[in-house]
Amino acid sequence: MTTGTTFLIQGGIVLPLEGQRTSFDPGSVLVVDGVIAAVGTVDDVARHPAASTATTVDATSHVVMPGMHNCHLHSGLLRGTAESMALWEWLENHVDPAHRALTPEIAMAASYMAYTEGLRGGTTSVLDMWRFMEGSAEAAEEVGIRATLAPYTADLYDYFETLETNRRLLETHLTAAEGRVRSWVGLEHIFYCSPEMFRGAAALAEEFGTGIHTHSSESIWEVQECLRQFGRRPIEEFYNRGILGENTVIAHGVWLDDREVQIMVQTGTSVTHCPCSNMKLSSGPARIGFYRSQGMTVALGTDGEKENNNLDMLEEMKFASLLQKVSTLDPTVGDPWDILDMATRSGAAALGLDDVTGTLEEGKDADIVMVDLSGLHFVPVLHGRDFNAPAHLVFTAGSHDVSDVWVRGSHLVEGGEVMSVDVAAIAERSQAAAEDLFARRAALQGRTPSPATDLHKHG
Ligand SMILES: [Zn+2]
Repeated sequence: MTTGTTFLIQGGIVLPLEGQRTSFDPGSVLVVDGVIAAVGTVDDVARHPAASTATTVDATSHVVMPGMHNCHLHSGLLRGTAESMALWEWLENHVDPAHRALTPEIAMAASYMAYTEGLRGGTTSVLDMWRFMEGSAEAAEEVGIRATLAPYTADLYDYFETLETNRRLLETHLTAAEGRVRSWVGLEHIFYCSPEMFRGAAALAEEFGTGIHTHSSESIWEVQECLRQFGRRPIEEFYNRGILGENTVIAHGVWLDDREVQIMVQTGTSVTHCPCSNMKLSSGPARIGFYRSQGMTVALGTDGEKENNNLDMLEEMKFASLLQKVSTLDPTVGDPWDILDMATRSGAAALGLDDVTGTLEEGKDADIVMVDLSGLHFVPVLHGRDFNAPAHLVFTAGSHDVSDVWVRGSHLVEGGEVMSVDVAAIAERSQAAAEDLFARRAALQGRTPSPATDLHKHG
């Protein structure tokens, strides 16, 4: 039964993830008008005056946790194509020509797919860097997910978004869907954008009181090239160009030296760790444990469908932990509670949304995920002294284990089914859009094979 926005999730393993290692097992979460009214043991929450009349959701054998924030995503349709290439070769020869071929219709289909896929797997909030993002806003509104939209802008290439189109997005969609959808200023990689453009982006963000999202320090080559061209490492150059601050989120940040880490911490700039992408593109292991120990806010992101190849935040948590362990040769790092924090509370903090979401606490919006632990692959589920739910979430669970998702109390995924949109129709539309995109890219590259042949040859 689809809940209204007042309901009682009862009898699950409740992990508020408020920054402590709290659990209520069994526990309940009471939601009144889309806002969390009580979190605690089953008995304590049952005593709340609103509990007796609320619709009950049985959470037995489920974890109840905050919705996850995917803080670096690109909507896209290149999944499984152009694999096993070096980052910059891959960008120049495959990704950029696809950008050239992109249309608003194709871009919107990609956002519908990405947001629906994410939501189905327990992602309640995305920071998406994409193009023609008016369509992304429409997709996010209908799917029901929270979305922060940061266009790919660049002035050293002719076909990306520009500060002018970013301004138009801010003018029309600074916030939409009662604040659930927001627009930021986006910047592509440093070599795509002139220093003047960085300063323009900083001024634009200031004018609209909004955030900035960009990539940085993803590969060693990028750091070396930055030193060669500008005489500074990327984060120092960003500082010089005036884009760092509490409203800025840097994707990747793999190769930050100690001085850059201090600049990030002192300016309050957040980083989004994308372990799967960093492994797949051989970018390297970010020193996440060190960053967090220095006070940096570290969020988690999947990156796009082309560098992951799914948008599964539960799986991303496993990669985040394992990459820490193997790169430091220290099995004690990558603790499940720390990793869960990155996917939830720290993600919300990076996005400046920690007042309204990111944890299960009274007064916060009901962005809630239930993960079904009844499958064979979760045996044994243990309680008390041998409590293992956090480890199960990080190391065992995948998106297919998510049973229910609420955003602001709206029941958007129920028993594993997306309720807000027609998933089959979105899959069909995205497939058609991808075939269109590949045909357009081939035509622009002066090749005229049939789209089907081309799809085969290049992925
Ligand atoms: Zn990216």
